[in-house]
Amino acid sequence: MDLVREAEVVVIGGGAHGASATYHLARAGRSVALIEKRTIASASSGASGGIIRCHYSNPAMVRLAHRAAEWWPGLADELGHPVDYVNNGLIVAVAGAADAAHLERAVRMQQRVGVTTQVIAPEEIEHWIPGFVTEGLQLAAYEAEAGYADPYAASTAFAAKARELGAQVYTETTVTGLVMSGSRVTGVETNRGTIRTATVVNCAGPWADRIAAMAGIDLPVRPGLLQMVAFHPRYDGWTRGSPTWLDLTTMTYCRPDASGAMLAGGGLAENAAIDSEAVDPDAAPPRPPVAFEAEIHENLVRRCPWAARAARLRAWSGPDGNSPDFHLVFGPVPGVAGYLQIVGGSGNSFKLAPATGEALAEYVTSGTSTYLDLDAFSVTRFAEGRPFRGGYQMHIVG
Ligand SMILES: Cc1cc2nc3c(=O)[nH]c(=O)nc-3n(C[C@H](O)[C@H](O)[C@H](O)COP(=O)(O)OP(=O)(O)OC[C@H]3O[C@@H](n4cnc5c(N)ncnc54)[C@H](O)[C@@H]3O)c2cc1C
Repeated sequence: MDLVREAEVVVIGGGAHGASATYHLARAGRSVALIEKRTIASASSGASGGIIRCHYSNPAMVRLAHRAAEWWPGLADELGHPVDYVNNGLIVAVAGAADAAHLERAVRMQQRVGVTTQVIAPEEIEHWIPGFVTEGLQLAAYEAEAGYADPYAASTAFAAKARELGAQVYTETTVTGLVMSGSRVTGVETNRGTIRTATVVNCAGPWADRIAAMAGIDLPVRPGLLQMVAFHPRYDGWTRGSPTWLDLTTMTYCRPDASGAMLAGGGLAENAAIDSEAVDPDAAPPRPPVAFEAEIHENLVRRCPWAARAARLRAWSGPDGNSPDFHLVFGPVPGVAGYLQIVGGSGNSFKLAPATGEALAEYVTSGTSTYLDLDAFSVTRFAEGRPFRGGYQMHIVG
């Protein structure tokens, strides 16, 4: 298939954000081309844990996550393709006075935004997860409308529907440069030719800084690595509808998948290393080390003793682009016309994709955004000393 010569918008990167942006732009009637150097969801999005939650510490983030959460239950119908969404709920459990106080404040703020969430006593967790051990826990939150989806299915569903609406989706096509006229982007160069455009959207995930550099932008987003491991629980009290749980004492999270497996990740070691490792996103993601799998299994057994019998199914790692405050970066960059970005997913942005694509299309159309706070998510927050401040020590929780 030959490349189009011109498009109103060119989206770079076919992960969850790029595919969603392409869909929403096509839905808004824009001519749009998506350029993906491998296949859809072949990087961070394909490796994602797929957890969908609104439990964050900052109102701007909660509003965006809440908007995305409104999309998820009806997304498969909207797109006409499966996304394997399951509404299973989320439990966040903490120890210590500081985290407990923060959790209470965060839940109250989330309730004000409209999230269905409540503070619960740790002993109540057993209502959802039989045999859950609460030793050392002080407080917990239960978010009823949280869920999970299949990140590969969701990303490909966005891309497929975008194509049906007239978007040009080019896979195995690499962006090699941006055509600039002074400080304005006027085109996108690929290994298959050049597309003229007035607007380019950088959705290149772990490669986002490289695409930004093509426009002369020094983007403070660096590739990092996250890992997950899946277990067969060998226990019929854990099902596809069991809630995702996040134990902040060990920074470990676990959710079911559609087959009833336990998908788990996090851990103290990963959290400590998350912004110190130099990761090459072009290299094949390494197999997680044995120590990671052992740490996560131990942390699962600590809360769910029945998981001692669980059998390991598979383990994997995947890259993501980390921003300095581990929150998404969205929108224009001052001084560079025709350049927009949805970058810095920081290990927690898959859930946001339905809303980031919507916000991007709205911004392209009207220069505004109803659900996404453009100031809060702007890259200028770093230079201006107003980064997001996460409330917990676990970076990806936010
Ligand atoms: C193990 C793991 C677990 C996670 N768990 C969760 C979770 O439970 N919940 C959650 O919300 N988030 C989670 N995340 C984070 C989430 O998956 C990411 O933040 C999100 O998927 C990022 O999507 P993206 O579209 O920005 O990037 P990507 O999916 O990485 O897409 C970027 C795309 O750009 C393409 N590209 C790069 N350079 C070029 C070029 N020059 N030309 C053309 N194409 C190019 C790449 O090939 C790639 O496909 C997790 C991430 C990982 C790795």
